[in-house]
Amino acid sequence: MLDLLIHNATLPDGRQNMSIAVREGTILELTPGLMAEAHEVLDAQGLLVSPPFVDAHFHMDATLSYGLPRVNQSGTLLEGIALWGELKPLLTQEALIERALNYCDWAVAQGLLAIRTHVDVCDPRLLAVEALLEVKRRVAPYLHLELVAFPQDGVLRGPLGPEQHMNNLKRALAMGVDVVGGIPHFERTYEQGTLSVKLLCELAAEQGKRVDMHCDESDDPLSRHVETLAFETQRLGLHGRVTGSHLTSMHSMDNYYVSKLLPLMMDAQLHVIANPLINITLQGRHDTYPKRRGMTRVPELLAAGINVAFGHDCVMDPWYSLGSGDMLEVAHMGLHVAQMTSQAAMRQSFDAVTRNPARILGLEKHGLAPGCHADFVLLQARDPIEALRLRATRLKVFRRGQLLAETPAATSQLHVKGRPGQTARMV
Ligand SMILES: [Zn+2]
Repeated sequence: MLDLLIHNATLPDGRQNMSIAVREGTILELTPGLMAEAHEVLDAQGLLVSPPFVDAHFHMDATLSYGLPRVNQSGTLLEGIALWGELKPLLTQEALIERALNYCDWAVAQGLLAIRTHVDVCDPRLLAVEALLEVKRRVAPYLHLELVAFPQDGVLRGPLGPEQHMNNLKRALAMGVDVVGGIPHFERTYEQGTLSVKLLCELAAEQGKRVDMHCDESDDPLSRHVETLAFETQRLGLHGRVTGSHLTSMHSMDNYYVSKLLPLMMDAQLHVIANPLINITLQGRHDTYPKRRGMTRVPELLAAGINVAFGHDCVMDPWYSLGSGDMLEVAHMGLHVAQMTSQAAMRQSFDAVTRNPARILGLEKHGLAPGCHADFVLLQARDPIEALRLRATRLKVFRRGQLLAETPAATSQLHVKGRPGQTARMV
């Protein structure tokens, strides 16, 4: 006897009329038109069943703090960092946990079931680390949360000095933080940035951790720390375990240099995370016109065989006043900014918020195949492109075969003479 049997599902790869058989939280079988006894049967009515969304780049310690203690007037990255510095001494663990749990509710409601969040480790109390480790424990039954030790002020530049900042980072890892972070472009000089990449990658190698650095988040075409990150990845044998987040300087780099950089990144099996909502908002701020978009070269990276995800980065925090935990909104912006408008590229954009970030996190049994966790989302759309177009309603969200969230279909009742009584904006 099955626990759950879904009929008539369309999968992201285009397979239709599929049945998904679930027992004990695992997908047992995935085949067209399966007949079997089940405790619960659901007719997907030809709609899309997708793996859950994954956000590989987020800041949960700052989320939902918009307006505390004031709003970012200029809207710039640097005022955001300064504002975060003003907010940090005012943070309490209770309020931080409450905001993070609230955000996780938003995430679950939208089928976002795995999040990698950076957590600032420059505060010697490590208050945010403690708070987010508590959040991780509390959400574990329904959401995979992993933490990156992020030295926001720069591990070498920060006011406490390199030794204390490195020590904070090690303490955070010892407490249970999963990944080593960094911010080389924010260090005082290029050499210091390079040194920070080397030291942090060495720490990760020693401790068997993955690396995810804020890297080259600037419009400066000569910000080339990604080169060092790829080189150190190779030197230390960290292939496939290192991620360059943002890499916005690649937008402005010389094309010849990029032609040399891409194979280096590929050889290191470096992962890349672009954060379209934030990159398009924060980059190009020193430009008049033409004004650069600032997002890294997503189609070119994908064409070179490099794994790229789209991350949300910020929701209602010192850097960004908008956002709602909707990874379809993130992918929708990403495909526009990168002009990824072919059918194939739009499908790649959908992968960039599902499959690709799952690879970055090293999630096991993520996907729609026998043996995978029974984690999936029923969308009010018939394929990934329609899901992106509509930022489709997540009708039902399942984790380990259990229903976690449901949302009524977005269907408008029309009171227009001579026209149908309703529309869901689908042809
Ligand atoms: Zn970030």
